[in-house]
Amino acid sequence: MTKNIRKAGSINLLRTQNPVLDNGERLTRDSNRLDREQLEILEKSFRQLLEAIGEDPSREGLVKTPDRAARAFEFLTQGYRQSVAEIINDAIFASDASEIILVKDIELYSMCEHHLLPFIGRAHVAYIPNGKVIGLSKVARIVDVFARRLQIQENLTSQIAESLMNCLEPSGVAVVVEAKHLCMMMRGVEKQNSVMKTSCLLGCFKDDARTRSEFLALLKE
Ligand SMILES: [Zn+2]
Repeated sequence: MTKNIRKAGSINLLRTQNPVLDNGERLTRDSNRLDREQLEILEKSFRQLLEAIGEDPSREGLVKTPDRAARAFEFLTQGYRQSVAEIINDAIFASDASEIILVKDIELYSMCEHHLLPFIGRAHVAYIPNGKVIGLSKVARIVDVFARRLQIQENLTSQIAESLMNCLEPSGVAVVVEAKHLCMMMRGVEKQNSVMKTSCLLGCFKDDARTRSEFLALLKE
């Protein structure tokens, strides 16, 4: 028997059932894992990849590589099987705060969707509450939900900002991401030290120049 418990706001979590993902699908597993069949497809693909580059997948050092690589990929893409609503459901609190709340230097590990190579950096996430605040550690987990998918940095930045905007309905959200892209560093142009910066400003951070400059000043501290 299941019981439908609805929590505050637009968050939809059925307590005794599996959570609903952002795209509306119900999660059919109790975790972020891939199912057996999906893992087997990944393993087979990695074995073919090794053969395609002229390697011998049966040599000692590589025997377990397809299995290990499949599990690494499962972990690195677990964001597809997570929902922001599920993560922050228990961590939204009523508050009168109306100043900028900034979580700085959140470590970020993602993978570029063009080359399947990592990009690594930091995210800075700020918002101005409008009645609701969220636990600080949850901000970092929201960053992970979107980082652990195939991404381009621009989309990652705006997805973090928009999901906070939807979940908390704050006066504004500002997200800045700075990252180094291994696809640039290891191949092609080999620009070792270039850092890409992206930002997404919503609400009062976009509309009000003073709020925006206060945020930029906080970032420099
Ligand atoms: Zn790339």
